[in-house]
Amino acid sequence: VKFDSAKILKALRVDAPERFELAAVDCDYTAGVDKDDAEKVLAADKERLSELQERLYAEDRWALLIVLQGMDAAGKDSIVSHVMSGVNPQGCEVHSFKAPSAEELGHDFLWRTTTRLPARGRIGIFNRSYYEDVLVVRVRPQLLAEQKVPRKLVGASIWEERHQDIRAFERHLTRSGTVVLKFFLHLSKEEQRRRFLDRLEVPAKRWKFSMNDVTERQRFEGYMAAYQDMIRATSRACAPWHVVPADHKWFARLVVAAAVIEALEGLSLTYPKVGAADLKEMRKIEKALKAQAPRKRRKT
Ligand code: AMP
Ligand code: MG
Repeated sequence: VKFDSAKILKALRVDAPERFELAAVDCDYTAGVDKDDAEKVLAADKERLSELQERLYAEDRWALLIVLQGMDAAGKDSIVSHVMSGVNPQGCEVHSFKAPSAEELGHDFLWRTTTRLPARGRIGIFNRSYYEDVLVVRVRPQLLAEQKVPRKLVGASIWEERHQDIRAFERHLTRSGTVVLKFFLHLSKEEQRRRFLDRLEVPAKRWKFSMNDVTERQRFEGYMAAYQDMIRATSRACAPWHVVPADHKWFARLVVAAAVIEALEGLSLTYPKVGAADLKEMRKIEKALKAQAPRKRRKT
């Protein structure tokens, strides 16, 4: 089966957030594509991505922010390494957000990620993001208490207020020229179990296992509820969520790569043009350089 990226992306993008049901998305979905075909498409995508990134960098006007969210073992790191492996590291930055430091807790919840936003011409990847502040912090109320927000400001509507602030923040980013693409890697509880077991069994993967992962797994259903609410509240045309079936890593990679390409293609990126006066000057220099006698290279 051919991979019809436009059609699949449209299906996975949350365009009607108010009706969005997380349970209706099958984590196992592969759109009928098989793994070998996917690998061929991905290889071609990498080249395309690398070209587009060079233009993004040369044009130096737009920025691209990629937000990756998902449960432990959903494959966020693997997306970063596979999808971005073809791009020039100079034009790309990856930031992973862990439990906040004391300094970070001294600020509002958008502060630490704001300082890491990609500059014009760059691709920035957030491996987890400010969305953790309506996910883990919502699922574990103790964390909210640790955030030191004045008591008076913490009420029943705090999550709705944070969603609202995120919407406003992302709209601001897009109006300033940062394209925002968000991906929820949707992993089933069963596939998470298998991946955890793999991490426990394979010595080279044990470092990835954290005791904390098991306690978070116990809150799986709570996380799904928080994710659904968050996606409904923050998927907007200017900064849409893609809910990516993630039980097959190769399929998730394919979808993310396709979405990034589609977004960059939508920008009609061009290399900056050289003005007539500059071009005239360049021609002169070119001529002068050609007229210089070539010097022999010294043998070593
Ligand atoms: P990992 O991505 O596996 O390195 O794990 C990072 C951990 O940091 C996850 O358990 C996240 O839930 C946690 N984390 C990230 N952001 C926050 C936050 N704002 N507050 C509390 N925990 C967070
Ligand atoms: Mg982890």
